Parts: sequence; structure tokens; C-alpha cells
Amino acid sequence: MTFAELGLSPEVLKAVEELGYASPTPIQAKAIPVVLGGSDVLAAAQTGTGKTAAFTLPLLSRLRAHANNSASPAMHPVRALILTPTRELADQVSASVAQYNKYLPLRSAVVFGGVAMDPQKEALRRGVEVLVATPGRLLDHIEQKNVMLNRVEMLILDEADRMLDMGFVQDIRRIMSLLPANRQTLLFSATFAPEIKRLAADFMREPELVEV
Ligand code: AMP
Repeated sequence: MTFAELGLSPEVLKAVEELGYASPTPIQAKAIPVVLGGSDVLAAAQTGTGKTAAFTLPLLSRLRAHANNSASPAMHPVRALILTPTRELADQVSASVAQYNKYLPLRSAVVFGGVAMDPQKEALRRGVEVLVATPGRLLDHIEQKNVMLNRVEMLILDEADRMLDMGFVQDIRRIMSLLPANRQTLLFSATFAPEIKRLAADFMREPELVEV
């Protein structure tokens, strides 16, 4: 299996080639075609398996396929939202997005707690298409009306089990209730505790199970 066989957009493929990835990891080989097909996905994935690229590569390919060419920042609504449990993971995912996005490029930003709101607010104001966020800080920005989520096409819950362990379940449910019902949802988790299954049952549409 090669990356070229997976159906990714040329710009994304070029970025992956430059990074020197020889072939997709098992989770990438299984998840990427399903995500590109538009289905909701429940993926069982540990860290270090290449899970970030498994959702980021098809996400960028899909957004690119429905490109938004307007020059106005107001015309760059958030189209993909990636929620992560911690600031560290948000930073890592954001760095991966920036790498894989090199030849597109879609506008991306990251917001997390423990730092000033204002620079994040400015970034949001300029227009962000791919937003990486921790749940609590995202809700702060929503309450201050710094960001609108009514145009989100894709939602990714990364390390969902850790988000639930950290007590974010109500925050996540609130955020999900603000998103358009007509969207694609990807949930990545190392384990599938009952609470994860309930979240999937409540907020996902006939998710495909991806396991390696
Ligand atoms: P992750 O599991 O998403 O945290 O990724 C672990 C590491 O593997 C990251 O440093 C990626 O840059 C790297 N990586 C992801 N996919 C591949 C691949 N197909 N080939 C080689 N390295 C990869």
C-alpha cells in the first residue's frame, strides 16, 4: 500500500512525500479511504501509530476539494474542528496540520487554556478554517463570540477517552450541540468505555469502526 493509492489530494501527497513517509501506517491505510468517503468513523488508535495523519491528511484533502477561494477573512469560517484533551496534544496536532497543509494552504490556528485570550482572539478574527482546540478554552471563545461554529463540516475528537477521563464530557456535549447536524464526525480513542459509546450513539451517524 502506498500513500498515492489512498485517494489523497495532490498537495497533501506532495507534503507527505517531502516528509519522507515511505508508506501509510496500518491505521492510516484503513482510516484514510473511509474518511475520504465521507463516513463518520470510530477509530481505535494508540499514540505513536500515526493517528494524527490518519485524520489530518483526509481532512485537508476533503476541505481542499470544496475550496473556499474568497479573500475576505469573514468568508473563512471554521470548517474543521479538532478537539484534544491537553495543550501539549493541541500543539502537536496543530504542528502536524501546518506540515501537511504546506501546499494548500488552508488557514489554521490552535487555542488552549493557560495563556492569554487576546492573541487567540486575533487569530480567530482573521479567519480560521481548521481549528485545533481544547474544550474549555474553546467554550470561553464561544461565550465571548470570538468564534462561530455554525459552518463546521468536520469534527474530530482526538484521544476521546482522555478527554472523558479529564472530565470534559459536558463541555464536549455542549460544543457538539452547537455544530451543524449535517457534518462528518471522527472519534479517535485508545479505549471504548461505555461513555464513549454513548457519545458516539448520541452524536454520530452510523459510524464505521476502524481497528488495526
Ligand atoms: P502520531 O501517532 O500521530 O502521534 O504520530 C507519530 C509519529 O509518526 C509522528 O512523529 C509522525 O510524524 C510520524 N508518522 C506518521 N505517519 C507516518 C508514516 N506513514 N511514516 C512515517 N512516519 C509517520
